[in-house]
Amino acid sequence: MEAYGDYRISRFTAEFAETAVELAFREATHQSRVRETRHAITIAALFYLAFAITDYLAVGGAEEYLLIFITRLTICAAGILVAITAGRWWRLLMDGMTPTLVEALALAGFLSITLLRPYESGWHGMSLMVMLLGVYVFIPNRFLLATAVAVFSTLGFMWLLVAHFQPPANYVLTLGLLLAAINLFGILTAHRISRLTREEYRDAHILRLANEHLSREIEIRQRLEAELRDLAQRDPLTGIANRRHFFDLAEEAFARARAKGSPLSLLIADIDYFKQINDTYGHMHGDEVLKVLVRVCRQALGEVDMLARLGGEEFVMLLPDTDLATATALAENLRHEAENTPVRLRDTVMHFTISQGVAQWQVGESLAVFMRRADEALYLAKYNGRNRCETAEEAAHWGTLEQGRSGDQNTPSDRAAAGSP
Ligand code: GH3
Ligand code: MG
Ligand code: MG
Repeated sequence: MEAYGDYRISRFTAEFAETAVELAFREATHQSRVRETRHAITIAALFYLAFAITDYLAVGGAEEYLLIFITRLTICAAGILVAITAGRWWRLLMDGMTPTLVEALALAGFLSITLLRPYESGWHGMSLMVMLLGVYVFIPNRFLLATAVAVFSTLGFMWLLVAHFQPPANYVLTLGLLLAAINLFGILTAHRISRLTREEYRDAHILRLANEHLSREIEIRQRLEAELRDLAQRDPLTGIANRRHFFDLAEEAFARARAKGSPLSLLIADIDYFKQINDTYGHMHGDEVLKVLVRVCRQALGEVDMLARLGGEEFVMLLPDTDLATATALAENLRHEAENTPVRLRDTVMHFTISQGVAQWQVGESLAVFMRRADEALYLAKYNGRNRCETAEEAAHWGTLEQGRSGDQNTPSDRAAAGSP
């Protein structure tokens, strides 16, 4: 709770001890408070006016009655005016100024009527009790102000009773005790209401803060998770999918091709003499060549096709809805683009070439076999002099590859097979 501010409630005022918290509470709850006040004051004012009938029955149409009636009407009208316009001065309402003023006016009016009708002090005592009930629990006000208004009017009433009407001691004591009791109950109840509304606000507020905190935490974690996932799936140098992610994407493309019965082709490209490029221009410039090749691939094949870095200077492209002839044409175009794209290094411009192997997926074939065939085609392209593209069909036809690979533990096809899922 400490982390969310000081929400202590004073025993004396039944309000938040911290002024800022109390003001925030009033601000947050003012709309419902205005509504409650409107209802309470309107009902109280109408009841107050309704007693003009009993006044009439008691006093008759005398001049005295007119005075009583005007008092009642004025107080009732003032109350209704306050109720109607309560939304406008909600700050005064929440301050306790407005309700206190209305209550003080109403009670003063009541005491003056008491003076005019002294012979009904029993009824007046009962009326006062009802009014006290209204002040303590019905009309929303701050605890201490409501208590002050109620206690002062009770004392004023008792003083009027004793000073002006001199009733018997027993009568005064009974009425005094009853009024003391209702004041006490009123004080305890008003205190409890004030405390409970603040506790409710405090709990809701803390819960909301905790929820916001949790939501923020979840958001941060989700972002972090997405970043981590992205990092795990991307090649840091070129930003394209890495080997592992490629196999996931390939599985999905496989499933789609299988379901649709559409062709699917694979293209593996490897930079020629890359080691030499590194040795001549340095590793950093070698990196630049890798990035340029990725750019060329993107331009030549578009964003939709799955492009990944298998490792080193070897890239793979999965081409959905593409047959061998189209894939070979794409590869040829790519080869041409790579060959004709200059790589600008710090003080020189160089060119590079790529060799490629292309294969079309055969129904029932696993990804490992599929890749091995494309890799064998790549190997054939290297074998046939580099800067060219060969198909898996061509490689199978030649059938001489196995001989060429004998003793070589690190041929592209070996690596593809080892890394495939
Ligand atoms: P070939 O034409 O037969 O493909 O020959 P090559 O030199 O391209 O192939 P080889 O496998 O002999 O050499 C590949 C080189 O690529 C060796 C390695 O140091 C380099 N290499 C691997 N990864 C990176 C990289 O991220 N950046 C750079 N600059 N070089 C890399
Ligand atoms: Mg190479
Ligand atoms: Mg290589």
